[in-house]
Formats: sequence, C-alpha cells, structure tokens
Amino acid sequence: MRYAETGFNLEVDLTMGNIERVATDPRDTELYLGGLGTNAKILWDRVPPETEPFSPDNLLIFGTGLLCGTPATGCNRTIVSTISPQTRLMAFSMMGGFWAPELKYAGYDKVILRGKSPNLVYLWINNDKVEIRDASHLKGKGAVETQELIRRELKEPKAQVAAIGLAGENRVYFASIEQGRSSASRGGIGAVMGDKGLKAIAVRGTKDVNIARPDEFMELCNEVLKYIKWRNDNPVPGVMPILAGLGSPQEMKVHDEKWHTENFMWGNSRTRRKDFWNEEIAREWMKTMDSMRRRLISCYNCPMTCGATIQPPGLPTYMMKCFTKLTYTMAAMSDLEFGLGIAQSATEFGVDGFSAPQVMAFALELYENGILTDDDFPGMPSDNEGRFYWLLDRIVRREGIGDVLANGTYWAARQIGKGAEAYAHNNIKKHEQLPLKLSMLNPIYFLMYCTGEKINITQIEGQFPQAPFATREEREAFVKDWFQVPDDKFKQYFLDWELRGEKSLPYYPTVQMCCDIVDWQERMHYIDDALGMCSGLSSFPLKPPYHIHNYPKFISSGAGIDMDETKLTEAAKRYRTLVRAINIRRGMRRKDEKPPENHWKKRFPELEKELLDTYYKFKGWNDDGIPTQEFLHEFGLDYVTEDFVKRGILTDIEDDPSKETPAEKEKQ
Ligand code: SF4
Repeated sequence: MRYAETGFNLEVDLTMGNIERVATDPRDTELYLGGLGTNAKILWDRVPPETEPFSPDNLLIFGTGLLCGTPATGCNRTIVSTISPQTRLMAFSMMGGFWAPELKYAGYDKVILRGKSPNLVYLWINNDKVEIRDASHLKGKGAVETQELIRRELKEPKAQVAAIGLAGENRVYFASIEQGRSSASRGGIGAVMGDKGLKAIAVRGTKDVNIARPDEFMELCNEVLKYIKWRNDNPVPGVMPILAGLGSPQEMKVHDEKWHTENFMWGNSRTRRKDFWNEEIAREWMKTMDSMRRRLISCYNCPMTCGATIQPPGLPTYMMKCFTKLTYTMAAMSDLEFGLGIAQSATEFGVDGFSAPQVMAFALELYENGILTDDDFPGMPSDNEGRFYWLLDRIVRREGIGDVLANGTYWAARQIGKGAEAYAHNNIKKHEQLPLKLSMLNPIYFLMYCTGEKINITQIEGQFPQAPFATREEREAFVKDWFQVPDDKFKQYFLDWELRGEKSLPYYPTVQMCCDIVDWQERMHYIDDALGMCSGLSSFPLKPPYHIHNYPKFISSGAGIDMDETKLTEAAKRYRTLVRAINIRRGMRRKDEKPPENHWKKRFPELEKELLDTYYKFKGWNDDGIPTQEFLHEFGLDYVTEDFVKRGILTDIEDDPSKETPAEKEKQ
C-alpha cells in the first residue's frame, strides 16, 4: 500500500486526446519525495534542453506535494512545473487553495500534460472518470468566471477548477493559473497552458488518502496546531508586524501599509516614496478596504485566513492575491480603490500581480522618455489610471504594443531597442523581480537572489532574521526558544550580529556563515515545495511550526518512509541539484546569477565575488555554478554527469564547463 501519496499519475496527451493512469515508482518518492522533487525528475527525464517552451514536447505538470491531502495543517500546495517562456528555464510556481488535496482524493499525485489540443478544451477529473471536454464556449472568459461556469456545467459545485484567462490563451509570458482561493503566477506557466489549448482542469475526488501511522501523525498535527495558536498569541517581538507572525494574514487584515509603501520601489521606478503614507492616506485606505473586503479566507485545512475576497463596486467578487493590493495602486501612483478595481480585471485576465504592473509602468516610462511614442499608443487615454487599464487590455489581447509588452520587460526591451534595455532594470534570469531597491548590501540576500531558481519573494526570505536586533539583550531573548535551528551555531551567528561596527553588514555574517544560512533557508524552501507545505508556515517566517526537526517525523508516520534529518537533507539536496541541472543544461551559468545593478545602492564587487565563489564550492558546484561530478556521484545523480559529459557541459576528466551549451547556441 502507498501512504500519503496515491501512487498514480494521470498522463494526458492533448494532441491525441489520450488519457492514461500510470503507476509511479515508490523508489522515486524515497529519492525525490514528491511535488517539486518528482516534478524535476520527470522534466529531467522527458524534456531535453532543446525543447522550446511552446513546443508540444514541453510538459506541463500539476504536482501535489507528498503530504497534501493528509491532515497536516497548511499542506495544500500544487506545484506547477514546466519550461518557462520568459526565463526559458524550469518554472515551478505554486498555488495554495484546494486543488491539490482534491486531486489526491480523486486518486492521483500529478497530472502530466503533453502535446497540444487543436481546439480549446478542459479536463474533467471525477475520481476514476477522466474526460477531455470542449471549451470553445469558454474562449475569452475570465479565469475566475470560467471556474464558476464549469462547476455549473458539470453540476458539481464542489469541483476545484484551475483555469487560465485571456492572458494564458494568448500566451502572455506572465500569464497565471487561477484557482478558487489561490493562483500560480510566476514564470508564465499560464502561457504554456494556453499554448496547449487547455482552458482549465476541474477535479472532484471522494477517495481516501492512507496514512502509515495515523495516531503518531495526528499527534504531530495537533502539536503544530497548538504551536500556531501559541505563536498567534505571542508574536516575535522586535520585528515589523509582517515578520512577527505566521503565514501572511496581515496582508489583508492590517491597514497600516506605511512600511511597504515607503520601502519598496513600486512599479518600475527607482526611488522610494518616503513620505507617501500620511494620516489622510491611512484613513482613505481603511475606508476603501472596509467597504470592499467581504471576508477573510484560508486555503484548505489552515486556520490562518491569509486571503480576502474583494468586491469593488459593480464588479464580481474575487480573491485578492498577496501584495497585489499594493502593486497596481503603487505602480500607477494612485489610490487603493483603483488598485482593487484593476486587480479584479487582472485576476480575470489571469496575469502575475508583480510582473503586470511593472511591465505597464515600464511602457509608460519608455513613453515619457521618448523611446515609445504616440504612434505606439493609439487611443490611449491621457489620465494615469485610464492608461493602466488600456495597457492591460492591449497586453492580454496581444494587440499593437501590447504584443511586445506581453513578453515581459526583458524581452520587450530587446525588441523595442533604442536604449529600452536600460529601463528593464529589475530582472533576474530574465524575470521581473520584487520592486526592491535597498541601501546596504545584505550578503545573505545577495546569495539568495543570485542563486534562487524559483524567482519568487518567498524563496528569497527564510528562517534567519533579515536584520540584526539593536541590543544583545534582544538577541539573547530571541535565541532562547529558537528550537527550529538545524544547529546551535546559527544562534551564535545571530547573537554576534550587530547594527554597527565590525560585526555588521556587509562583512558580517561572514562569507562562510552566509553559506550556512542560505543553505538552511534554501533547504527548507525545497522541502516545503516537495511536501506541498505552505511556506507561510515553514520556510518563510521566523520560528515556524514546521522545521527540520519535525518534518522527518511527519514523513515517516505519514508516508511510511523511514526518514531522519540526514536523509531528508540529502533528498532535498538531490532534487535541488536536479532543478539546477535542468537549468544548466538549458544554458544557465554564473553570468545569469546577478541581481539588478541598482538593487542595492552600496555594492561590494570583491565581496560579492567571494560570496558566489565560496557558496558554489559549498554547494558542490564549480566556478560556473555547474554541479561537479564528485557531488553528483555522492547524491546518486551519475545520470546527470553522463548527460553533462555527452553534451560537453562537463568533461569526463574534470569539471570544466564547456564554453557554450547546445541550448545556448540555439538561442543565439
Ligand atoms: S498560511 Fe495562509 S497562505 Fe498558507 S495555507 Fe494557510 S491560509 Fe493559505
């Protein structure tokens, strides 16, 4: 018997209209867990680097985490993996909500889609009955509207539906997949779904998920719930409210946006609006939010109520994505009423709430600087808000300049030329990043930004505080009940970290300490993404309920896999390396691991070089960021070495990188 997982994937060939239920190999679960881990293994095995994002051979995988569908609180993530049209690398975007547990209850761990349907279709998974249905009547419909239309059509109000909007249908590079109370937005995965002619996947499941040792597992779940309650009553003192609690409920509950609005560089701008937040703005925001927010909501099996449903006047209700309440408002330098209104359209169109406002602000910046002209914007309204609505509409329809902008700032800048590249200044690995421009280089975040392959805010933050506390007493109080650390040395690192002087940024934490910290933070993210855990209860906040010490027990008692901290760390390293190997094979190298030039005002080139050199070595990668033969062998990844040698990425006698990969050559 299989525990926690079902042991079956659903393979769908959209070209042939073929559907198969395929048994999976339990050894893969031991080596790569589930979710992101096994998604990566499938992409490695079946999608060679020559495959273009919009090739029928590109796979689109909806993977549930290993523990999704079990009673583990907050374990509800669907990990959507494919080759991104924007980065041309592996995308692994997550969505919470209810979809992954429902798929498990229908009897599947993953849905793997290949090929392309000649007509727009949707997939209906109803336990053992799976069918591809015509979706021509849903063409152009909103991503949220589609979910409701499908539920009605199927007469199944409990079906969980993941759908794309017009942006996905038109292959906008930052198109999202929307689902009930969640969204998978990064990497343009919605564009790949649209390219495959798939409007939605509806799923209804009523089966059970087996737990290996239920009593033990339930005890662990109850401990987590108890801890969540305790943490809610005892927020971490000395840090800003957003870091003091778990999850991100404050996003929709709290009105005070002083910190966010003044510290981020919203839109495509390069300056902070330091005096933006005043009493009048605060009053207005409160009024708008109170009049439009309907209720606070949670994902499956979670008490945190991070999200909220919003109803702008005269518009349908939708779920506000984390931070999106700010991104449009601030990019357009407008008010919250505008932000909540345009976010409704953007959610129906199905676009990423970080990239879309940046792309629109970028277009207007090019216009203001004469790089784009009136000819590029025929009929664009003259008011700021009208312009944003106009641009959004053109982008999702790929009309006129919208067709260029739909490729994101990196590719659009290259297409436009005339110096537009200088305005696409907020990208890493060809993808728009958080609009953050900071002052002093933080070496921990430098490494996380550079080497992160998820390209998402949650992956650049972790369980180590972002900044030192002012006094030793505060630091001592913080480390007292910091049992989540994998090793007590982390407590010492933090105790000695000071605001000023020798042990302050950017030279403290030392390079070696930064490697340890980043490795720990990254490891927790990768474990979450394989188990399907919400990072808001694990890898993202300080002192979370899930950590390296209790995760092995969850896996052992839940999935029946004999697990301890060492084995779990090894598994995470294995599939983390596989994600890197997929990207290396597609041409990613050290040159790509660069935060935007103006990300920090004070940069330290020598220190940054040393950080990357040391971290690469620490991770078992060579100077160009390529995993070495020795490291690959240690983690049972000889098949990667073999492929790298065959492709000339590594030589069979040493770990020299080749000058150019076949994928790179092709790109040129
Ligand atoms: S913490 Fe928030 S985002 Fe995470 S599962 Fe719970 S409700 Fe969803």
